[in-house]
Amino acid sequence: ETVNMNEFFSYILDRFDMMLKTDNEHTGETKHLREEEKKHYTIRREITRRDLWVEIDQDKFLQVVDNIMNNAIKYSPDGGVITARLLETHNHVILSITDQGLGIPAKDISHVFDRFYRVDKARSRKQGGTGLGLAISKEVVEALGGRIWVDSQEGKGSTFYISLPYEQMDSEDEWDEG
Ligand code: ATP
Ligand code: MG
Repeated sequence: ETVNMNEFFSYILDRFDMMLKTDNEHTGETKHLREEEKKHYTIRREITRRDLWVEIDQDKFLQVVDNIMNNAIKYSPDGGVITARLLETHNHVILSITDQGLGIPAKDISHVFDRFYRVDKARSRKQGGTGLGLAISKEVVEALGGRIWVDSQEGKGSTFYISLPYEQMDSEDEWDEG
């Protein structure tokens, strides 16, 4: 499908803002919230206003961004800031998600996209998960002709990047209606 990435990314981030709201509006009953949803976090958005039309499978791409967002929350202390960015270059759309969490040790960075790989078994066991999220994300992104990578510093935080091929429309292609 052809999707406006600007709208789609905003929609995903809205959902994460909503989860937080449900948690904050104390109703007296706790729904089976997953660990990461009990955490407080602030999402800061630095998103281009332009429409960016890209070819993706919405369901699969939603899973990818969900996993990276969930990781950002899961591997961060309570109260962390997550920065979500969306920008375009002449032929790519680039999404990035930055957290202020545990970070990834240098020796593990090249492995986090491997199936079942989890940094420091002891550390990640109590956080739950299978270690498949990023492996699946990589498959999905590469199937779209894109790339996924991470920049991280242990103890400081991580930034996950996704770039997708994108064809900028000429201004002549933007039709003026009416
Ligand atoms: P799953 O996503 O399958 O539920 P998972 O989150 O452990 O489990 P991945 O999403 O594939 O698996 O991540 C692999 C490993 O990379 C994680 O176990 C964690 O050690 C590390 N990791 C991923 N994202 C981050 C992050 N934002 N900060 C620190 N470490 C991370
Ligand atoms: Mg994960």
